[in-house]
Amino acid sequence: MGRVYNFSAGPAVLPEEVLKEAAEEMLDYQGTGMSVMEMSHRSKAFETIIQEAESDLRELMNIPDNYKVLFLQGGASLQFSMIPQNLMKNGVADYIITGQWAKKAFKEAQKYGKAVAVASSEDKTFSYIPDCSDLPIDDDADYVYICENNTIYGTKYKTLPDTKGKTLVADVSSCFLSEPVDVTKYGVIYGGVQKNVGPAGVVIVIIREDLITEDVLPGTPTMCQYKTHADAKSLYNTPPAYGIYICGKVFKWLKKRGGLAAMKEYNEKKAKILYDFLDESKLFKGTVVKEDRSLMNVPFVTGDADLDAEFVKAAAAAGFVNLKGHRTVGGMRASIYNAMPIEGVEKLVAFMKKFEEEHQA
Ligand SMILES: *Cc1c(COP(=O)(O)O)cnc(C)c1O
Repeated sequence: MGRVYNFSAGPAVLPEEVLKEAAEEMLDYQGTGMSVMEMSHRSKAFETIIQEAESDLRELMNIPDNYKVLFLQGGASLQFSMIPQNLMKNGVADYIITGQWAKKAFKEAQKYGKAVAVASSEDKTFSYIPDCSDLPIDDDADYVYICENNTIYGTKYKTLPDTKGKTLVADVSSCFLSEPVDVTKYGVIYGGVQKNVGPAGVVIVIIREDLITEDVLPGTPTMCQYKTHADAKSLYNTPPAYGIYICGKVFKWLKKRGGLAAMKEYNEKKAKILYDFLDESKLFKGTVVKEDRSLMNVPFVTGDADLDAEFVKAAAAAGFVNLKGHRTVGGMRASIYNAMPIEGVEKLVAFMKKFEEEHQA
């Protein structure tokens, strides 16, 4: 079997060009006689890799000079603790609960101070983004926290919340680099890269410099202080070197494809093919309110759990893999990240049409 169309939510599909390049360089990276996996993170070759990765990311996202870019470990989940440990100076933070990841972050923050859920869409199984135009933001809130794209439920903020002047912190794991962003609107943007950027093991944190201080909660481990990593340019200890190298290649791939504005256009085109079909299908239907639909994660159902299972199985046999919905939601979910080619979505829709014809009542 050759390569499949992989609709996994994460770890997820990577650009084939990047994988091929990495394969070519596996045994001998640019005349060093070794793989990037075998190289000192203090070597000249790796220094160039991490510096280029950072500068390419800065260019792609138009990151201002007063923001640091950190390549860290511990996944997006460790940020659920690092954010309160580093930012909860007043011991108060407001959370908007739009799904499981936001909820996990909220629960973790409760260990460190007063974390307040100022809005939630749990009443309708997180199928929408709550109105965030006039939230009861606490006067003392150190930050307002969102999960910008909800990987499991398939929703995305189309406008950022009005934080009433408070620092906005966003988990962008599943929409990282899928479209242009105005970094200046955030205090912290972070994401695990295994959804839309690279291999698991790297989390990228983009943080405004004034938020990086020694004034962290008592007992915060050295490894959990942003200052440790900012001062050491992400080389305080051994970083996830191979993962950073692959991320760097993905950044170059994105630049070659025209950057984030071009990716947005491509992603909109791809998502439209699938959503248009879901809107007209008599068998399949999307589970999210139209205005909050994600471009990256598209959940859908037939309304019959057995038929869902039959579809997932038949799709896998036809080369469309990892379409099963999250275990907490059921149904199906197609994750159509940057590296999913438009042909993958077109062929999936053709397959769904055929399945629908064969299963008409
Ligand atoms: C996958 C995911 C996480 C968890 O990421 P880990 O790197 O496994 O900790 C957190 N937030 C969002 C939005 C995700 O999609």
